[in-house]
Amino acid sequence: MKGTMLYGARDVRFEERPDPTIIEPTDAIIKLSAACVCGSDLWPYRGIDAVKQPVAMGHEYVGIVQEVGSEVKNIKPGQFVVGSFFASDNTCEICRSGYQSSCVQRQPGAPTGAQAEYARIPLADGTLVATPELPSDDLIPSLLSASDVLGTGWFGAAAAEAGPGKTVAVVGDGAVGLLAILSAKQMGAERIIAMSRNKDRQKLALEFGATEIVTERGDEGVARIKDLTNGLGAHSVVEAVGTQEAMMQSIRAARPGGHVGFVGVLHGVEIEGWEYFFSHVHLHGGPAPVRNYLPHLIDLIWNRKINPGKVFDLTLPLARVAEGYKAMDERSAIKALLIP
Ligand SMILES: [Zn+2]
Repeated sequence: MKGTMLYGARDVRFEERPDPTIIEPTDAIIKLSAACVCGSDLWPYRGIDAVKQPVAMGHEYVGIVQEVGSEVKNIKPGQFVVGSFFASDNTCEICRSGYQSSCVQRQPGAPTGAQAEYARIPLADGTLVATPELPSDDLIPSLLSASDVLGTGWFGAAAAEAGPGKTVAVVGDGAVGLLAILSAKQMGAERIIAMSRNKDRQKLALEFGATEIVTERGDEGVARIKDLTNGLGAHSVVEAVGTQEAMMQSIRAARPGGHVGFVGVLHGVEIEGWEYFFSHVHLHGGPAPVRNYLPHLIDLIWNRKINPGKVFDLTLPLARVAEGYKAMDERSAIKALLIP
C-alpha cells in the first residue's frame, strides 16, 4: 500500500509502505475512506518537535473494516468505523470513568499511520465505533472530524463546563477551536465569544454558533472579554492553541470560579503558581477522551443535527498529502481532507 512518512522538517513523502497486518488478536485492519492532516502534525512538520527517524503520519481515521483478529468480538469486516488517536480497551476503570485517552492499555490509535490506504487499529473492540449502516459520502468528512478535532473541541467545551446560562470564550480559530464553538452551542451556552482575526474563520465561527467575535489577543484580548462580561471574565474558556500566550490569555479571561478547558497540545507552557493561586480558575484538559464522546457525536452527525465537516476547506487526493501540510502550515487552509 501507499502511506505518508515524515522524514524531517517539511519533508513529507507519500510512498510504498508494508501492508498492515494483524499482529495482536485484538487488532483490526481498516481501509481508509478519508484521512486528514491535524494541526498537531504541524509541530513535527515545522521541526519544533524533532524528527529523528522517518515516522508514519496520521492519527484521524474512518474506514471500512477489512479483517479482524481472533479475539475481536464486536467489530466485523464490512462495517464503517470511526476511531481516534489513542486506542483504548474501553473496559478498565479509567476508561469506564470517561478517560479512555488515559486507558491503562493506551497505545497509538493508528500505529501504522492513518494518512495511508490501510491502517492497523489496536484494541479494535474498545477503540472503534461502527456507524448504523454505511454512510453516504457527504457524511464522511463530518464522521472523520469526530475522530479528533470534533471530539477534542467537545472535550474542551465540556472541560470548560460550557452549558446553559454560560458565556464561553474560545481561544484559537483552528479546527479544534471552531468545533469547540459548535460543541458549546450544542451544550446550550448562552454567549459564545470567538477569538479570531481571520475573516473566513470568523464566518465559520458565526455559522457554528459564535455570538461575538474578538480580534484582539494577549492582554488586549483579555481586556475585551472583560469588557463584554461586566468586568468579570467568561464562565468558560476553551484553550485550543497550546502556546504560553494562549494559555495565559485563557486563564486571565476566565472569571474567578470559572473553568478553562485546555486541549491545544502544549509546547513550552509554564503557569506561574502565584498568579494561578489567586485566579480561582479551574483548569482541566489534556488529550481528549474522544472515544467517550464518539457514540453521541456519531448520532448527532448521522441525524444531521451538526455539520462539523465544514472545517475541511481543502480536499486533495491522498497522494498530494504534502500540499495539505503546506496549506495548513501557511494557514491558507483550516484543515485538509485527503481522499485515498
Ligand atoms: Zn481502558
